[in-house]
Amino acid sequence: MFRHPEFDGHERVVYACNEANGLRAIIAIHDTTLGPAFGGCRMWPYADDDAALFDVLRLSRGMTAKAAICNLPWGGGKAVIIGDPQQDKTEALLKAMGRLVESLGGQYIIADDVGTTLEDLAVMRDETTHTAAATEAAMQPWPVTAYGVLMAIEATTEQVIGRRDLQGVRVAVQGLGNVGMPLCAYLHERGAELVVTDTDANRVRDARDQYAATAVAPDDIFSVEADLFAPCALGAVLDDESIPRLRVKAVCGGANNQLREPRHDAALAARGIAFVPDYLVSAGGVIDFHQESVDDSPDAVRAAVEQVRDITHEVLTRAREQAVTPLTAADGMVRARLTAARNPV
Ligand code: NAD
Repeated sequence: MFRHPEFDGHERVVYACNEANGLRAIIAIHDTTLGPAFGGCRMWPYADDDAALFDVLRLSRGMTAKAAICNLPWGGGKAVIIGDPQQDKTEALLKAMGRLVESLGGQYIIADDVGTTLEDLAVMRDETTHTAAATEAAMQPWPVTAYGVLMAIEATTEQVIGRRDLQGVRVAVQGLGNVGMPLCAYLHERGAELVVTDTDANRVRDARDQYAATAVAPDDIFSVEADLFAPCALGAVLDDESIPRLRVKAVCGGANNQLREPRHDAALAARGIAFVPDYLVSAGGVIDFHQESVDDSPDAVRAAVEQVRDITHEVLTRAREQAVTPLTAADGMVRARLTAARNPV
């Protein structure tokens, strides 16, 4: 574990197995300096335990950065359940997961993620109080993550493209799911020109019909000439193969872990492309969850998510002033917050 390439001084990694209901889970608590570790629970038929461990270590680390850059009083954590959510998810399994979360005494707050839903959290709540989405408002979500991506795109357009509105700004959107499709709606409303792709032809047709988007094949999205590229599908899409093909000024999208390796941030910079840190761009959902404990009225949530625009401005400004990439600037802000909290004056 301690030599694992994704291990980053994680405070706690908990394995759990319950033969009675088939639960096999790992919870990784990366850092609780700023508060309890917050993060989603992914249920996925991982090929093996190593793949699950890799995911949970990497994703929990990203959650620390996501909370810290947004000034939330939370640390970073993540849970994975090894199994097929279509076949293996039962009430007994979810309750066992709830008991596991409860056994951590509030060190970890569980949320939904790929393969789990807000309804699943409601089942876990029979066993633990440490879940997100406990309020009525949280059960009626609006596309907060997409709205956060829009905020980051607005700031990036102003700073990198030099435009204060999105009228005629050309955005290439990869993935038209929960994040990408509402993002297209927001961008279209503001007059942006859309080029889209998805492996699901129905979603592509919907984006074409509703948002006047131009469609390209999945692999062609990388070579679209546009102002911005917004990856909203998979992780690790920015690599040695895709980066030389990009014809955009900035990458700003909602997918988690877009860089295949950390060095690809420098590869983008070498091509004059600003990479806006994905952990900031995709923070709308986490901000929304945090608002539950503050004020989860729609206006308050909207205002809180709009901070993504201000923080993106701050990151891009610091990057310019320090002559570093936006990711280096953001990582520096995260480190400074953690250091200040560990060493209060
Ligand atoms: P989703 O499953 O709803 O949508 C993903 C879309 O990408 C689907 O339409 C899928 O068909 C498409 N896709 C898959 N492979 C593709 C490919 N090779 N080329 C083009 N399209 C492809 O997922 P989502 O909830 O929209 O999340 C998208 C990304 O954003 C993920 O990386 C996720 O981790 C991240 N994210 C999501 C949220 C959220 O609130 N949903 C929050 C933070 C980060």
